[in-house]
Amino acid sequence: MGGALIDGFGRRISYVRLSVTDRCDFRCRYCMAEHMTFLPKEQLLSFGEIEQLVDLLIARGVSKLRLTGGEPLVRRGVLDLVDRLGSRLGAGLDELTLTTNGSQLGDAAERLVASGVRRVNVSLDSRDPGTFAHITRRGRLDQVLAGIAAAKQAGLRVKINMVVLKGLNDDEIEPMLRWCAGERFDLTLIETMPLGEVEEDRSAHYLPLDRVKSALDQRYTLVPSLVRTGGPARYFDVAELAVQLGLITPISDNFCAGCNRVRVTATGTMYGCLGHDQKVELRDLLRSGERNGAEAALDALIAGKPQRHRFDIAAPAPAVERHMSATGG
Ligand code: SAM
Repeated sequence: MGGALIDGFGRRISYVRLSVTDRCDFRCRYCMAEHMTFLPKEQLLSFGEIEQLVDLLIARGVSKLRLTGGEPLVRRGVLDLVDRLGSRLGAGLDELTLTTNGSQLGDAAERLVASGVRRVNVSLDSRDPGTFAHITRRGRLDQVLAGIAAAKQAGLRVKINMVVLKGLNDDEIEPMLRWCAGERFDLTLIETMPLGEVEEDRSAHYLPLDRVKSALDQRYTLVPSLVRTGGPARYFDVAELAVQLGLITPISDNFCAGCNRVRVTATGTMYGCLGHDQKVELRDLLRSGERNGAEAALDALIAGKPQRHRFDIAAPAPAVERHMSATGG
């Protein structure tokens, strides 16, 4: 017990994605069912419990923390939590970021900056109001674009995440790239993954990103970037546009060998892999102050972290039953 978190394949875990709520104000078709049941509040980790957990992780070498959800900015008081976690920056924590749908960024951006957040990932699958409303089922594009503008104005570095959906937004990839370049945002394209049942047939909208890349190669010079974040994206510098393009290809090109992360749900379940059910339950251990127990559970999780996910977009049932919003995207 104690010391760095190194799994059975020699990978050092230094990055945690922590969901602060399973709730979201959107119902993106590839992510959630239209009528989702959300968890009662008392099942969620309290802010104090999240702080305890984060301190335990920092003590074990975790230096990067990303808050996610659900939609992290819809949890009441979450900016106080960000502030409290921000006090760990420079004291073990190197980076505190979040992934958001942008709907609440207009109000939150300046406080995020004041708490030490420097970068945000904003999910934006379309810049067409009708397509955006269709994909998100209840999102308003103008509100999200205003949120993104507020983030930029506040000095946050913005990366746009776009899940590529054949027949829905694949005609917007190049315009999105050009828009990002003009705004000085980076863009990461993501393949849709089989997580949790949704009403849609995901395979109908699945588009392998190598095809997208081949099409972009015809028009632009994509120079493989030296940037490696230990994350799933492969990065390219788009020479003509001075923008960085990331490709996340869980289905068509596995990236697990360099994985440096684990995920914690809003209820304190820690998963070793997005695509497996391997997990430990930390909430009750944190709640009853059993730090040794929590450390032992953490060690067990890391020791058993799966080598790789096995997503199969064509399989009749999703690889894991839980939705991305439950695990923390
Ligand atoms: N609400 C926040 C947001 O929209 O960014 C954070 C949570 S969301 C689950 C995180 C990311 O996961 C989003 O970029 C979303 O598009 C992506 N996502 C959700 N379900 C997915 C799936 N089945 N396959 C691929 N990406 C997915």
